[in-house]
Amino acid sequence: MSAYPITDTSGGNAAGTLILGRVIDDEEIEVMTEGAGVNFTVTGIDRVPFSTSELESLNTSKRALVIDGGVATAYSSFDDIFGDTALMVSVQDSSRALYMRGVLLITVIIILAALGCGLALILVLNLLGKIILRPLTGLVTELEGINHERVDGRVTVNESSLEMSNLTNAINSMLNHIEDEQEQIRKKNESLYKSAHFDALTGLSNRTSATEDLEETVKIAQTGGYNVTVYYMDIDRFKFINDILGHRLGNELMQMIAERLQNTFGGESIYARMHGDEFLVCVEHLEDKADRQECASRIMDLFAAPFQLRDRKIEVSASVGSALYPGDGLDADTLIKNAEIAMYQAKESGTGLYIAYKKDLHDALQRKVRIENQLRTSIHNGCREFLAYFQPKLSVETGRIEQCEALIRWNLPEGMIFPDEFIPQAEESGLIVPMTWWMIDECGRQGRRFSDRGMPMSIAINIPAQVLLHEEFTERIAAAQAAMGGSNLEIEIVERTLLDDIDMVGAVFKTLHEGGVEISVDDFGTGYSSLSYLNKLSIDRIKIDRSFMRGLEASEDDRSIVRAIVAMAKSLGIIVTAEGVEDQFQYNFLRGMDCDEIQGYYISRPVEADQYINFINEWNEHNPQD
Ligand code: C2E
Ligand code: CA
Ligand code: CA
Repeated sequence: MSAYPITDTSGGNAAGTLILGRVIDDEEIEVMTEGAGVNFTVTGIDRVPFSTSELESLNTSKRALVIDGGVATAYSSFDDIFGDTALMVSVQDSSRALYMRGVLLITVIIILAALGCGLALILVLNLLGKIILRPLTGLVTELEGINHERVDGRVTVNESSLEMSNLTNAINSMLNHIEDEQEQIRKKNESLYKSAHFDALTGLSNRTSATEDLEETVKIAQTGGYNVTVYYMDIDRFKFINDILGHRLGNELMQMIAERLQNTFGGESIYARMHGDEFLVCVEHLEDKADRQECASRIMDLFAAPFQLRDRKIEVSASVGSALYPGDGLDADTLIKNAEIAMYQAKESGTGLYIAYKKDLHDALQRKVRIENQLRTSIHNGCREFLAYFQPKLSVETGRIEQCEALIRWNLPEGMIFPDEFIPQAEESGLIVPMTWWMIDECGRQGRRFSDRGMPMSIAINIPAQVLLHEEFTERIAAAQAAMGGSNLEIEIVERTLLDDIDMVGAVFKTLHEGGVEISVDDFGTGYSSLSYLNKLSIDRIKIDRSFMRGLEASEDDRSIVRAIVAMAKSLGIIVTAEGVEDQFQYNFLRGMDCDEIQGYYISRPVEADQYINFINEWNEHNPQD
């Protein structure tokens, strides 16, 4: 039933109410029930007994659920026009069936949700695979494809995602970097290998690699039962050539010799530059002495033609020694050492000679070889085993000591070695050059100390020909001289050096004189008789050889020679020093002769710098300057 208020156009109070009603009978309800597909019942409110809470729910929400004995009934109330409950519509079902329907519904919802999630997951994975995994797998495959020893491959991934191409670029630039590094490492290894196995100047094998190769060859020869001949070759007077021509031409000569060696022995044998001007050649299957001699001649023939060095033609010869496997040694080191000893023997006998090793070759030669090797090590290690000793030169006129001679000493753990034993080796091997550089510097340093202690000294250094004509010589002297305070340097040269190349020597002397360096002729009277060079070269001083002192007392001849030398020097205005003066007789004789300076054990033995300083202090205190 519905009610509507009735009004007129004046807008005042309602004129009445229109009430409309409709009867719903059972038949109609049945039709409605059928249409809705649900069985519902229409009753009055009073027909159902409600509890208080159910009534309250009905009043507020117009709905109530009553569960009774497994049956659930849902009520809806409809109000009449006065707001009172007019009728109830109810739907009834068993609560179990409801529960089952609920469960069914939830199950269906869960299944649907699971299906949905699964589908979404597949979709996402597929998407992920497409965007990330596939390119990553591709990347990994490409990376695996790049051999880790060769990184010159590059990664390509056909994927347009920005991240992927960034990653690819990053990997590629990393690969570039690694490739560069590897290249550098390869180059470094190569140059390390080269410098360890090849001689930088000539490109021939060096000592290390020649020794290794010979060791290998000897092993094979042992199995094969055949022999190996080891030749050691040393250029005659090479140091001299080198120092006179200068290092650059000397190096060129080395290269030319290496080239000839390669042309003759290339391909078939071991051939190497051992160091300096020393070469090694090893030849297998030389059955008898004649074969070995013939092979040695092939080596010497390398020098048959002169060498054209720029505008100079140079004649060069070599000394060769050989040692035979198995007769003269069973391993590479012994064979090389014995061939070297034989070479020394050849050198001792002249130039351009060949000698085969024999067991009874002099022990002295063995010592020579050892000394040369030790010298090389000492110099290589910074000359710490060398010492400069100083021996005073007394001025007869003033009675004071303001000059000395520096004499080298070699202090090895097994004892002190004197210059007579190692200077010849040093000259022969060229080691005299770096050794003298050390001596010059050391005299510069000590000269400075003498000056600082108020006793400036003129220090004489012994200079052999190779050093005198060396291109660095005058500069090195000047450098040492500049650092000496009031002290200064002097050089002692033996006569034979002066005559080597008198024009070149003259030029060097001129430079030295300009720098305030005096020049003495050492061991005077033992060598050449020509005296014309004394004036020509503006010699400042001569030192009468000590061999004449020994005979002064006993021999009238020696006395005459000394008298003549002193007189000649005086007439040329040259200072005379007598060296090797050991006793009072000699001293008095020389004083009587008007000899200018005395050097010898009679005054003092050569001593170390500190001892020298003490000695001079004391000496000069007793002989004050006028
Ligand atoms: P030298 O230049 O004739 O030097 C003089 C030698 O005679 C020194 O021998 C010295 O110790 C020794 N001596 C000095 N007074 C007497 C004496 O009264 N009686 C005797 N019997 N001997 C005396 P040392 O120091 O053994 O040197 C020997 C040679 O070695 C030197 O002869 C010199 O030629 C050479 N030498 C020494 N030091 C050097 C150096 O630094 N460089 C070069 N290139 N040669 C040097
Ligand atoms: Ca000397
Ligand atoms: Ca001397």
